[in-house]
Amino acid sequence: MPEFEPSQYLEQHIKVGDREQGQSLIDKLSESFGPFEYKESGEMSVQKGPFEIKLSYDSELNQPARSIISDQSLPEHNRKYYSVRGYKFSRLDRDQQLDLISLLPADYQVIVEPEHRYKSSPNLVDQGRKVILLRGDLASPAIILSLLHEIGHARSYDNKTAEGKHRDWKHRSIVDFGVYGIGDKPGQDDYAAVLRDERDAWAFALGKIRLLLDSKEEVGRYSITKKDVRSMIHNWALQGYNKMFANELGQMDLDKK
Ligand SMILES: [Zn+2]
Repeated sequence: MPEFEPSQYLEQHIKVGDREQGQSLIDKLSESFGPFEYKESGEMSVQKGPFEIKLSYDSELNQPARSIISDQSLPEHNRKYYSVRGYKFSRLDRDQQLDLISLLPADYQVIVEPEHRYKSSPNLVDQGRKVILLRGDLASPAIILSLLHEIGHARSYDNKTAEGKHRDWKHRSIVDFGVYGIGDKPGQDDYAAVLRDERDAWAFALGKIRLLLDSKEEVGRYSITKKDVRSMIHNWALQGYNKMFANELGQMDLDKK
């Protein structure tokens, strides 16, 4: 493997996005096939065009999941969480199925807070406690992509040595500190490591979902193309990082372009 060169990596991968296009694609991919209506436990499925989303869930949360919820919840909220037991995305016309839960590393639990409506609190993975927390409507392709992205993070972390895990954690916390204005100023190697991590997790997501996508827009029915997903990743999902890192590094001013 060629040696990893942080400044070269950043130069090659920080790309100016088309914000409008990114927004319109995330809006399209967030359109619900639903609604999913939850009871204490059960199974449900929804369809749109050739796609089907199937969910089974219950209310039994393990201890790590409960500890994450208590970290995340504000005391005045008493929101409902579920364990995601089965979650499948299928192409009915092609007999293709993506079993999302089977992609999780061992001992992970996925939990969902369906009523969550705050855009500023995203989905997250906690690799230490082995929990992925999803927020919002599970009946949309956007949240499936988001889960795949978090699984990508979980798998790459689990495959690392103890030293690699520690390094990952350090880069990310340095970048977080930089963002919040506390601690050491991040360097190019911190930014490059975090950006590479984000891009790798999206590459994992795209690799898993691509067989279910259309190669070109279908006329007359609901369609999701590979181009839609790729463009959402570059023009929407990665843009927060691109913009922040570019500004911090003073390499370019994305707002002017
Ligand atoms: Zn990520």
